[in-house]
Amino acid sequence: MNTATVPASTRPTESTPSLSADASSIRRNLAACYRMFAQRGMDDLIYTHLSARLPGSNGRFLFIPFGMLFDEVTASNLLEVDAAGNDVSGSGTAVNPAGWVVHRTVYDAVPTAQCVMHLHTICGTAVSAQKDGLLPVNQFGITYAGQIGYHDYDGPGLRPDEQKRFVANLGSKRMMFLRNHGTLTWGRSIAEAFTLMHYLERTCEIQVAAQGSGTLALPPQAIIDATVATAQGVGDASFGRIGFEALVRRLDRTDPSYRH
Ligand SMILES: [Zn+2]
Repeated sequence: MNTATVPASTRPTESTPSLSADASSIRRNLAACYRMFAQRGMDDLIYTHLSARLPGSNGRFLFIPFGMLFDEVTASNLLEVDAAGNDVSGSGTAVNPAGWVVHRTVYDAVPTAQCVMHLHTICGTAVSAQKDGLLPVNQFGITYAGQIGYHDYDGPGLRPDEQKRFVANLGSKRMMFLRNHGTLTWGRSIAEAFTLMHYLERTCEIQVAAQGSGTLALPPQAIIDATVATAQGVGDASFGRIGFEALVRRLDRTDPSYRH
């Protein structure tokens, strides 16, 4: 929307949360992601986070209030945080600064990123600690070959000097292992970031299970290369939309309270 066509009194200000219908659907879809990960036990007390950029808002994005559990998140209680990490509603609700800066760093480095997800699951963190990282143990592990960044552990938080290495390690990739820490995905939509995280985490679970059950049988490199070359859909901007919408319908049937 061109702000020149909007009366000054109705333009968003630094203290006015975005209220457009588009922002409403972004709130609902991000809240749904929190609930779906909570239902699968993929949260970690109050210390992981999912975010979504609000278009046309000077870099603001939606973020979980610090201290809230994933299954407590609703569309309306997500914070709208500004470029400095402050809740623009003025509620004084705290934002986890160590978590917020990870998301801020991705949004600043990747203009097309609309959603960022970061988890500390058991299997995702286990694979992050393996020297060889993600292995081609299943079809998604094969397809993801070469599409995953690795960022070495360098203490808690993300200091200014570490942010440059973080961005360099992410490069053009949409998935990253934070070594000895967890997983991260970003997407051009909430559905894409969610689906990348779903399959990245699922592949980690399969890898850890397979490693504990015997010697791994992995495909020859030529088959892996051919599979990557012919993979369909994974790079599409709408990747994951149909599956994500199906999961949202399931959530609507089982616990629609996230919509409020
Ligand atoms: Zn973390």
